[in-house]
Amino acid sequence: MAGIDTLLTGGTVVTAETTVDAAVGIDDGTIVGVAKERIFPEADRRIDVDGNLVLPGIVDPHVHIAGYNSIDSYETGSKAAAAGGVTTFMNFAWQGWDDGDWDTTASLSDAVERHRDQAAPVIDYGLHPVITRETAAVLDELPELVDDGVTSFKMFTTDDIRLSNGFIGEVFQTLADLGAVGMVHTEDYAVCEQRTEAVKSTPSGESPASYPRSRPDYAEAMAADSVARLAAAADAKYYGVHTTSEAAADAIASVRTDGSNVRAETCTHYTVFDESLYERLGNRAIMSPPLRTQHDIDALFERLRDGTLSVVSTDHVPLPRSRKEGGPWWESAFGVNGLQRSLPVFHDEAVTRRDFSYPELVELMCTNPARTFGLPKKGRIEPGADADLVVFDPDETYTISAERNHSNADYSIYDGRAVTGRVQQTFVRGTLVADDGEIVAEPGHGEFRRRVLPGWD
Ligand SMILES: [Zn+2]
Repeated sequence: MAGIDTLLTGGTVVTAETTVDAAVGIDDGTIVGVAKERIFPEADRRIDVDGNLVLPGIVDPHVHIAGYNSIDSYETGSKAAAAGGVTTFMNFAWQGWDDGDWDTTASLSDAVERHRDQAAPVIDYGLHPVITRETAAVLDELPELVDDGVTSFKMFTTDDIRLSNGFIGEVFQTLADLGAVGMVHTEDYAVCEQRTEAVKSTPSGESPASYPRSRPDYAEAMAADSVARLAAAADAKYYGVHTTSEAAADAIASVRTDGSNVRAETCTHYTVFDESLYERLGNRAIMSPPLRTQHDIDALFERLRDGTLSVVSTDHVPLPRSRKEGGPWWESAFGVNGLQRSLPVFHDEAVTRRDFSYPELVELMCTNPARTFGLPKKGRIEPGADADLVVFDPDETYTISAERNHSNADYSIYDGRAVTGRVQQTFVRGTLVADDGEIVAEPGHGEFRRRVLPGWD
């Protein structure tokens, strides 16, 4: 090691394997060593983290920024992320969605280009194109996108942008040839439609407390099962998004047992809230799939422990209260914001209350998402990795306030929640981007990251 520009001292470094008291040497945005302080050469800048934890930056593979159903720009969304210890997110580029209108002829490449042209985040990002049209042309686009570092694609089985199982199977065949990842939002469309109409017509149907019955767990499990089978038949890599229920997690687990390339996530809010939140917060808490029962929450934690669920993401959907409240639940826009709170909230629930270890936390929020989506320099603290780091005080207890939102969303479902664990500083490639909740980097510090084809062995 010749001279280095930065040395982070006095911390406990957490990786997916272990925790160790060590200094982290950084040069030109890259980690050059993790070792006792005395072995490093003199650094231009020394940062003493005062006994706190040093975690890899959070890698959130599921956020909605600057597009359909999102009022965050790359700037505001990434500021919320940075304040919450997130150093890379993967955002959705919707086929055909152009500032408020659906263009039925648009391509995935157009969507990716539109995002890359406007993006000026403070943290790094990647893109998952969302396939919304069943055309041969869309399949023809996939190889070039993969070559450009876009190695995963999103589909839906429900709502207006749904694809048929037949077409999803064709996409998996193409993805299998390429080695790329298919992600699917799985709820059975027809069941959800029928149940929604049924719930709406009952006497108490208008209450937000009735909302979960319109999108039942078995509808989620049915679609999770069908899609996982389609992926297994094609021998494709499949990533199930936002698993909420024991039934859906069981469906995924049963397809995984034959060695298929099936992975899945849950989201922070499904690990801490049950459906009683709809009584407390009304439409503000509406997202799809819905919050479930306490039994489901416990089952999700079992599945996080046994590896069926290997990632915790946010599904950050920033919306104003004005688009959520004031009408029956079926007129509410769906989705909740969470980027700024995911690490402290999940840390508090998993580590403080449920005895997960720090390496397990890092695995679920940093290392696994980076590996799953082909980001070899992210999610780990080792020589050669990007110096994306979070200084985290594991002991401080405080109450979350939506007034501190960096997101354009003017509320938080976590508002008023007391948690233990605070993000003190966030570094992206060696640059301090957030310091005690304040953003100290310029928009545009973040870069588009080309992703490799992930190996899932
Ligand atoms: Zn989502």
